[in-house]
Amino acid sequence: MSRYVPDIGFEVHAQLVTRTKLFCSCPNEVGGEPNTRVCPVCLGLPGALPVLNASALDLAILTALAVGGGMADVTRFARKNYFYPDLPKGYQITQYARPVATGGRFEPPGGPPVRIRRVHLEEDAGKTVHGPPGSPSLVDMNRSGVPLVEIVTEPDIHSVEAAGDFLKALSRALVFLGVATGRMHEGSIRFDTNVSLRTPDADGRGTQTEIKNLNSFRAVSRALVFEIERQTDVLERGGRVRHATLAWDEAQDRAVAMRSKEEESDYRYFPDPDLGPFQLAPERVERLRSHMPELPARAAERLRTAHCLTDEQIEVIAADPHVLSLFDRAARALDRPDAGAVLANWVVGPVIALAHERGVGLEELPEALLTPGKLAAVVRARYDGVVSEPAARVLLKAAAESSESVDELIERLGLTGVDDDDLRRTVERIVESHPEEAARWRAGERKLLKHFVGLVMRETGGRADPRRAAELLESALEAG
Ligand code: ADP
Ligand code: MG
Ligand code: ZN
Repeated sequence: MSRYVPDIGFEVHAQLVTRTKLFCSCPNEVGGEPNTRVCPVCLGLPGALPVLNASALDLAILTALAVGGGMADVTRFARKNYFYPDLPKGYQITQYARPVATGGRFEPPGGPPVRIRRVHLEEDAGKTVHGPPGSPSLVDMNRSGVPLVEIVTEPDIHSVEAAGDFLKALSRALVFLGVATGRMHEGSIRFDTNVSLRTPDADGRGTQTEIKNLNSFRAVSRALVFEIERQTDVLERGGRVRHATLAWDEAQDRAVAMRSKEEESDYRYFPDPDLGPFQLAPERVERLRSHMPELPARAAERLRTAHCLTDEQIEVIAADPHVLSLFDRAARALDRPDAGAVLANWVVGPVIALAHERGVGLEELPEALLTPGKLAAVVRARYDGVVSEPAARVLLKAAAESSESVDELIERLGLTGVDDDDLRRTVERIVESHPEEAARWRAGERKLLKHFVGLVMRETGGRADPRRAAELLESALEAG
């Protein structure tokens, strides 16, 4: 155990899901041929005038509502002045004195709440692409002007593990809100972290360093472990931590010095004369509040109380808004109030497995693979005992492939259960034709029952109910 307590804070940047960029009508999409999604505004050409994208502002308001932020009456943009090759206009448009919201808190499930300092909008910069040593670096401006929402926390987190829990829960909430895609490998959500150390009884906090450029939960956790160790080492030797900005080098698994800490005054912030101010009308905020999508914590609670799902089922279904929506729509179509947990088993198991097998993303699952109505029909056929468990699995795959209705498929594939008298005759025939195994079962080798059930299932083409087959087998074996 270390003698020091870490204080950890985050700046979370999420790329907003909008059709166009923040201040121009260029498409807001990831990737593409370099410098093809650009215009005078996002290239920063002199004289070009930015126009605020209203849906980006709505998504920032939605984010602020989700963390209970105090909404500004008037919000405005500022210029943050610095030079970098991927920022040719010499300043980033961000928010400074008048962010969309200030204050708030976010509570990860089971974790302590973290205070939120502010929520604001800003534009992303372009991307510098470094070639092999000796070759020139190139700039791709497709990302320039992409809308970001930034959420700044207070340094209320005190362990690497709690930091991960917090970021995962917050990111998940942003995806449920429809604010971000959550595709981390595309840079959908990115983090800067600030960390300092102090002794448990210290009055104030220690001096923090900031680590930028963290694109995954894993990178955040590796970076914090690295930096906490480094600061511990400095303090143990009687040294002082210097206020600095570091960049995380994923490949080398270490933080490298970027620059000594800049001061706010270095950026010469001033209100952007080309934009705003913008009124946040209470009606606008209320309209967004009343249409706010369900957040993961609320969804988990609902699945527990309304459908009695287990923690394991909830963990999968409430992890992804697309899976949740498939479950909810199928549950409504299923029309069997007690079958929620049965449906959940199908979603968590065979349905997700099928999507992976076919290479279908969870977001396109209902359109590409299985409508909620079809899923409900398969589960209903099983729940009502129309088909056996193995037959229902066959049915699910068939339903995903065919445009026929589930009822038609049951008919055409002959998946209805086997008539009980037929099944009894089949069982007796099988027991008679395997006298040696039957004798071993009677002598106590009970695990042979499984073997017999397998034979019955093969004989009936998977249509028999294995549980009923086992029952009939046991009495036939005993009688024999
Ligand atoms: P700075 O002005 O140095 O950038 P701020 O006070 O603006 O610092 O805070 C920026 C981020 O750093 C916030 O996320 C905040 O939670 C975090 N932070 C501030 N002070 C500390 C500290 N002593 N230790 C760890 N994190 C801190
Ligand atoms: Mg800062
Ligand atoms: Zn543009």
